[in-house]
Amino acid sequence: MKRIYLDNNATTPLLPEVREAMRPWLEEQFGNAASVHWYGQRARAAIDESRGAVARLIGATDHEIVFTSSGTEADNLAIRGVVEALRHKGNHVAVSSVEHPAVLQSCAVLERHGFQVTYVAVNSDGILDLDALKASLRPDTVLVSVMLANNETGVLQPVQKVSEIAKAKGILVHTDAVQAVGKIPVQVDTLGVDLLSLSAHKIHGPQGVGALYVRKGVEVEPLLVGGGQERKRRAGSENVAAVVGFGRAAEMAGRDLTAEFQRLASMRDEYESQLLKQVPSARINGGRSPRVPNTSNIGFPGIDGEALLMALDLEGVAASLGAACSSGTLEPSHVLKAMKVPDSILRGSLRFSLGRFNVSEEMSEAVAILSRVLEHIQSVSTPKAGA
Ligand SMILES: *Cc1c(COP(=O)(O)O)cnc(C)c1O
Repeated sequence: MKRIYLDNNATTPLLPEVREAMRPWLEEQFGNAASVHWYGQRARAAIDESRGAVARLIGATDHEIVFTSSGTEADNLAIRGVVEALRHKGNHVAVSSVEHPAVLQSCAVLERHGFQVTYVAVNSDGILDLDALKASLRPDTVLVSVMLANNETGVLQPVQKVSEIAKAKGILVHTDAVQAVGKIPVQVDTLGVDLLSLSAHKIHGPQGVGALYVRKGVEVEPLLVGGGQERKRRAGSENVAAVVGFGRAAEMAGRDLTAEFQRLASMRDEYESQLLKQVPSARINGGRSPRVPNTSNIGFPGIDGEALLMALDLEGVAASLGAACSSGTLEPSHVLKAMKVPDSILRGSLRFSLGRFNVSEEMSEAVAILSRVLEHIQSVSTPKAGA
């Protein structure tokens, strides 16, 4: 069966260039980057080259990049590491209510450790309420964390404005930019942020490696200790092959960003308009907001999203129920709930996310399959007259 992969916000396939860059480190090349000999220095040089590539992608300097095991770890380090280091200054944090669970559950840990957290509301378009953010800030607030692009809806947050507001009060700003990097230009100085999370496998790099940008002078308490790696901010021997792949993926993500933005946006927009023609009752969650070009979150009133997702999979179309991590839990999406999406579509919303390997023919095919599957689901769930 021909398969159509529309779940690139969950993970993306490796680019061939990334695979080629990693290959020597999975085959004959090896070395512990902490070793003084030739093998070690070779690994160190490879890691440093990748660090440079990741730094260049976001307009940072090499020393400001900390490699981690994932975007999740980068979020944990940003939230828990920074707040721990600033314990003497205060014990309050403000985050948006639509953050990735890596941020939200890091905040839950803080709360268990006696810190206070404000979860700032978004409007029905999924955009942060800046007045509510302002009102939430206190003299003891040490950190604000607002994601750049939402993983479920693709909606972009006004991070630049968030930084202006926080900076005026001397408060540090973190942004989870995992879903924005490689899709829109992301520059740490333009955004004005102090900390920024990235993940390789969301930009066609390998799984199991991420990075946290830490602005020069910002202190973080390491989550992992036991070695001097990453300038003592993250102990543990680096995953050289994965880091090398990340570097190459970062380099590729920075190329033709504008062309790829336009290609994805036009495929996504065409997909949504074709679909709305076939299924007029559908609605695009966050569709009126500025979004990354690859993400479409569509609500189908009265439809069981889980059933729709499985029926699509049987037809070869891979989509997602909001966040991959929360599917299967049957809990409706906290993001859509925060946007006050009506109950009738809360459980019938699916996320379709495109990537570099998708082509426009797949999108028209997906529309055809989706409308067929929807018709079938409706015909079996609505009893026929007289039956
Ligand atoms: C995927 C994702 C993460 C987690 O990254 P991993 O590398 O998969 O741990 C964090 N934040 C957002 C917004 C994501 O989409």
